[in-house]
Amino acid sequence: MYKINKKYDKVFLIILFISMIIFVGATMLVNRLQLVVPLGNQVIRSDTLCGIIQSFMFLLSIFTVLIDHNIGLGISLAAFSVQVIMGIINGIIHRTTGVIPGIINAAVSIFVLVLIARQLAKRERESYTDTITGLMNRRAFESILNWRISRRQSGHVVYFIINNFRMINENLGHRYGDLVLKEVAGRIAKALGDRGMVCKNDGAEYLLLLNDKGNPIETIERIMKAVGEKLVITKDGIDVNYFITCAAGVASFPKDANDAATLLKHSDVAMVDAKHRGEGKISFYDSKLADGVARRQEVERKIKDSLENDYFYLVYQPQYKLEEKKLRGFETLIRMKSPDGVNIGPGEFIEIAEKTELIYQIDQYVLKRAMWEFGSIIKNADKDILLSINVSAKGMGTAKFADVVKGIIAETDFPAEHLEIELTEYSFSESAEHTEENIKQLKDIGVKIALDDFGTGYTSLVQLLKLPIDLLKIDKSLIDNIESSQQNRDFIDSVIYMGHIMDCEVISEGVETDEQLAVLKDHKCDFVQGYVWGKPLAYEVAVDMV
Ligand code: C2E
Ligand code: CA
Ligand code: CA
Repeated sequence: MYKINKKYDKVFLIILFISMIIFVGATMLVNRLQLVVPLGNQVIRSDTLCGIIQSFMFLLSIFTVLIDHNIGLGISLAAFSVQVIMGIINGIIHRTTGVIPGIINAAVSIFVLVLIARQLAKRERESYTDTITGLMNRRAFESILNWRISRRQSGHVVYFIINNFRMINENLGHRYGDLVLKEVAGRIAKALGDRGMVCKNDGAEYLLLLNDKGNPIETIERIMKAVGEKLVITKDGIDVNYFITCAAGVASFPKDANDAATLLKHSDVAMVDAKHRGEGKISFYDSKLADGVARRQEVERKIKDSLENDYFYLVYQPQYKLEEKKLRGFETLIRMKSPDGVNIGPGEFIEIAEKTELIYQIDQYVLKRAMWEFGSIIKNADKDILLSINVSAKGMGTAKFADVVKGIIAETDFPAEHLEIELTEYSFSESAEHTEENIKQLKDIGVKIALDDFGTGYTSLVQLLKLPIDLLKIDKSLIDNIESSQQNRDFIDSVIYMGHIMDCEVISEGVETDEQLAVLKDHKCDFVQGYVWGKPLAYEVAVDMV
C-alpha cells in the first residue's frame, strides 16, 4: 500500500544499494588479495576485515529494509545474492573452503532480513485493516480515494451507518456486537459486487467508494435491503431475530469536493441528515444541508451535555377529573436548564433524540427521576394520584424494557399501580413484538397505558379498539376550535364514545378556555389537562398539591 514517494527516499535507497555492492566488491577484494591492515604493532587480518565489512553491510541492509520493506528487501537480497554467487564461483575456481563463512554469513543475513520485512509488512497491513471486520479502515480508504481523485476519476463516497447498533450491542453484549458488524460487512461487500469497495469506519459506520457506473441510489438501496434482512442471533441457545436499520449520506467527486477529507466530511453531513429523516433514508450532500445538520449536532451535543452534567429536570402538569375538578395526577415533562442559559425545548430535542440512541437515556432518566421524586409521596398520600410518564416508541420497542421499568419501580419503591406510561401510536407500529410483550408485562403489575396525541396519526377508531390501553389522550389540535366547529365536536363525541365502549377513559390535553371545558363536559370527557386549570409546575409546587 505504502509507496515510497519521497524523492530523497529513492535517492537514499540508490546510494545504499551502491554502497552495498561496493561492500560486496571490497569483501571479495580483501579476500582475494589477502589484505592486511596495520594497527599499531598489530595487523588486522583479511578475514577479520571481511567480517567487519560484512557487519557494516548487514547494518546497511537493515536500514534499507526499514526505509521500504519491499524495495529495500529487494535491494538487500540482490546485494547478498551477488555475494553468495560470487563466493561460490570464487570457491569453485580457487578450490578453497575459505569462502564458506562469507556464504553462511550472507545466507543468515538474508534470513533475518526476510523476517524483519515480513514483520513490517504485517504491521503495515494491520494499520490499514479494521481488526473486527477484516475490511480496510478509514486510513486506507482515504489514500485510495485520494489516489483516484489524483487520476481524475469520478465517483461517490457513501457514509453508511447502522442506526440501531447501540441497542443491539447493549442487548447482546460486545462480543455479539462485533459479530453483527462482521456480518453486515459481509452483506455490504456481497451486495456491492463490482460497483465499488467498502471500508470500516469507527463504531457502526462503513465507508463505500462507488465508481461512476450506474445509479448510486440503486446500489445503496440494494445494499440496504441486504443489510436489513433478518439477522438471527443465537445466544444462550435461544434464537433472537434482529432487523438492522441503516441510513446513508452521499458526496460525489469531483462535484462536491476534490479531496478525501472534505468528501468524507460532506458525506458525513449527508448521513446525519439521512439519519434524522428516518430509517433507510439516503441523502445527497448539498451545502444547505450543512446548516440543518449543524443545528441537530448542536442539539445532540446539548442533550449529551445535559445528561452528563444533570442539566435536565422535570416539571409536572396536573390532570383533573372534569366533573368536580379533582386532581387525577400529573404528566411528567422534561426541561433543560444549562448554565450557559441556552436551553432547548423538549418539542425540539425529543424529536432529535428520538432519531438517535440518546432517547433511551432520556427515557431512563425521566422514569428514574420522576419515580424517585414521587415514590414515597404518592405511596403515603391520602389521595389517589397517578404519575404519567412519556416513553418513546423506541424505548418501548426494546427487548426487556419492561424489566428496566420494573427495576426502577423496585429501586424507587414506587407503587406500580400509580404509574401510567404514555405511548404514541408509533409505539404500536415499531418493533411490535417487543412493544406488545413490554406492555403486557407492565400491565400485569398494574401499570396503566395511555395513548398520547390521539387524532394526529393514522390510528382509526376501529384499530383503537384492539390496542391494550387504559387512557386515550385527545390531542390539543382536535379541541383547538371545538367551540366553533360542529364537525370537531362530532368527532370528539365519537372518540369519547368509542373510548368508553372499549373500556378506556378519555382525557383532553391542551385545554385552554372555559368554553372548551364546557363542551368537553357536555360530551362526557373524563379528564382534562391544560393551561386553563394548570400549567406544568415545578416539583415543589406539584408535591404541595398531593
Ligand atoms: P406531549 O406529550 O403532547 O406533552 C404535552 C405538551 O403540551 C407539553 O409541551 C405541555 O407543556 C404542552 N401543553 C400542555 N397544556 C397545554 C395548553 O393548554 N396549551 C398549550 N399550548 N400547550 C400545552 P412540552 O412540555 O413542551 O412537551 C412537548 C413534547 O415533548 C411532549 O408533548 C412530548 O412529546 C415531549 N416530551 C416532553 N417531556 C418528555 C419526556 O419526559 N419524555 C419524552 N419521551 N417526551 C417528552
Ligand atoms: Ca404526553
Ligand atoms: Ca400529547
